[in-house]
Amino acid sequence: MSDRFDFDLLTLGAGSGGVAASRRAAAHGAKVGIVEASRVGGTCVIRGCVPKKLLMYAGQYGDALREAVEYGWVLPEGDLPRFDMGRWAQRKAAEIDRLEGVYRQLLANSGVTLFEGRARVLGPHTVQVGDRTLRARHLLIATGAAPVRDSVEGIAACPTSDDLLDLKALPADATVLGAGYIALEFASMLARLGVAVRLVYRADLPLRGFDDDVRRRLAAALDQTGIELVSGQGVKAVRGGPGRWEVVLADGRRLQASFVLNATGRRPNTAGLGLDTLGIALGDNAAVPVNEQLQTVAEGVHAIGDVTDRLNLTPVAIAQGRALADALFGPAHRMPDLRQVATAVFTLPPVGTIGLTEDEMQQRREPYRVFEADFRPMRQAFFGGTERCYMKLLVDDTTDRVMGLHMLGADAPEIVQSLAVALTCGATKAQFDQTLAVHPTAAEEFVLMR
Ligand code: NDP
Repeated sequence: MSDRFDFDLLTLGAGSGGVAASRRAAAHGAKVGIVEASRVGGTCVIRGCVPKKLLMYAGQYGDALREAVEYGWVLPEGDLPRFDMGRWAQRKAAEIDRLEGVYRQLLANSGVTLFEGRARVLGPHTVQVGDRTLRARHLLIATGAAPVRDSVEGIAACPTSDDLLDLKALPADATVLGAGYIALEFASMLARLGVAVRLVYRADLPLRGFDDDVRRRLAAALDQTGIELVSGQGVKAVRGGPGRWEVVLADGRRLQASFVLNATGRRPNTAGLGLDTLGIALGDNAAVPVNEQLQTVAEGVHAIGDVTDRLNLTPVAIAQGRALADALFGPAHRMPDLRQVATAVFTLPPVGTIGLTEDEMQQRREPYRVFEADFRPMRQAFFGGTERCYMKLLVDDTTDRVMGLHMLGADAPEIVQSLAVALTCGATKAQFDQTLAVHPTAAEEFVLMR
């Protein structure tokens, strides 16, 4: 490294992607600094995937308690068990503190220097953090994204998923605005924890971009768990404040709620970063535009993860970060292939998916076959439960290759993760058919569809 620079790589943002890139670069011998304005670990660890999943587990215990009785358990007489958000919040805070400590330790062990404060780019190779000016050969923008607060008039005052995860007590009712990942996951969890939930969205079905058969069944499943679905409705305005909200719908209806969750999307954290000093013009939704090699238009400036607003998933940011570090400082690299990325929505029941939807298959104008299974899992059938399981395979008729795999039902994220290996390897339907079942499981249906 020349004396002109303090670092070979300076990463802005110590979330999953930024930390992964920094550690990999340091492992290649680069001198690396990382700047974080909030807590080390970023959205996923501090206010996203991890606490969200811990709250989902809490929701599942409610089901388990109810089902336990059906399975022969005798619960103590008296009041039904109730969920205490304060107790959960305390444990959650301790677990997130622990994980943040792990991330800090990982950075320290890798020899990456952490700067705590808000970074501002001053010009080529130059970043200010507090009263320090740092110079680096390469800059990596990995500042992530945050909830959009201007999608609807008055929505800026509404709580977001960040706020919800820090509540000490749950509201009696909640109106959730949006029908993407965050809206649906939180609506599901709140309903399972005893909150009266209403979901307001502007499309006919939730979860735009997913397979329509999954979307339809997911809407039915949410309805069955007691969530009030208000579909095909834009939101004109939100008024009020803590404890007393009013949501004004496009058709003029006014809905009252004691809690409103703003889940209308996220926007890259680029405001005030100083990227204009590098000649970087922001793209749609204030994202940092990058090419396939994750380079911006400014030489030596790269961006990964949610700040690029491409496929906003933690594993994508991590894979991009490592690939970029390999490209800059290692002997070889391979950029992750974003055409076939498995993903899950942790609703109750959850969704898992990889590859093309049926709409996308139709757009290819190639012949294809559809295989489906729709059944009540053994666990539910035992006590007359209504939760179902749906699985779908989309197969290219000419090559026999499985192009799309979709599931709605218990354990879908775990099952789809494993099957994603098969799709990555280019598995054909004939190979699915040759695979013997693990019995009795729900997953076996994927190899039994004919
Ligand atoms: P999404 O983009 O997934 O969903 C946003 C939702 O808000 C959509 O339903 C959209 O409706 C709605 N919306 C947007 N603007 C308005 C408006 N003005 N009025 C009413 N509704 C509006 O964003 P999320 O915040 O849920 O999630 C962000 C990203 O984070 C996801 O795309 C995903 O990549 C990632 N994520 C992944 C998770 C996982 O892996 N399990 C969990 C959580 C987040 P419409 O569809 O009509 O545009």
